[in-house]
Amino acid sequence: MKQTIVFATGNAHKLQEINEISKGSGIEFVLPSAGFNPVENGETFEENSLIKAREAARVSGIMSLADDSGLCVDALGGAPGIHSARYAETAQARIDKLLNVLKNEKNRNAKFVCAMTLVDKDGHVLFQTRGECHGEIAYKKSGTNGFGYDPVFLVESASRSMAEMSEEEKNEISHRGRALRKVLEFLNN
Ligand code: IMP
Repeated sequence: MKQTIVFATGNAHKLQEINEISKGSGIEFVLPSAGFNPVENGETFEENSLIKAREAARVSGIMSLADDSGLCVDALGGAPGIHSARYAETAQARIDKLLNVLKNEKNRNAKFVCAMTLVDKDGHVLFQTRGECHGEIAYKKSGTNGFGYDPVFLVESASRSMAEMSEEEKNEISHRGRALRKVLEFLNN
């Protein structure tokens, strides 16, 4: 029998990605019930993922998993980090801003980070983990797949941008894929 767990997001695309990675695990992730409205005022990826997981468990009344992710650039002291989604108004504006602030910067090192927190129906933490994907910020966009900063993130192990990878390739090496596989291992033991 399939185990159902709430995935704390309002983003149906993210849910689909999570279920794709979990295929064959016997676990099905579903969206939170109505009223899911987390206040993401934590100071770390871990804190924000806990806030979202607890809010989803509260409205849905079952076990819940949440992620919180972002891009950390070395030359910017880890920014935009937990503020990645709000770095500028639109996805295009966020990329333009990043390329602009790094225009004359030689150190292009960066990483995607994804923290995940699993809580029981009462909001008690069962498991917390983090996945990372290391790479560099490109000088210009390439590729049309994926979302967010993917077109300017050159994956260390592939020398291609994340937006040039298929969904399966990205899931293999992505911060989210890495974190989720650790959660699935925990759930299966
Ligand atoms: P959140 O975890 O949904 O709050 O997303 C944080 C933000 O980080 C997203 O809006 C994106 O801008 C960025 N981000 C997180 N994961 C990825 C990814 O896999 N590719 C590109 N951008 C990402």
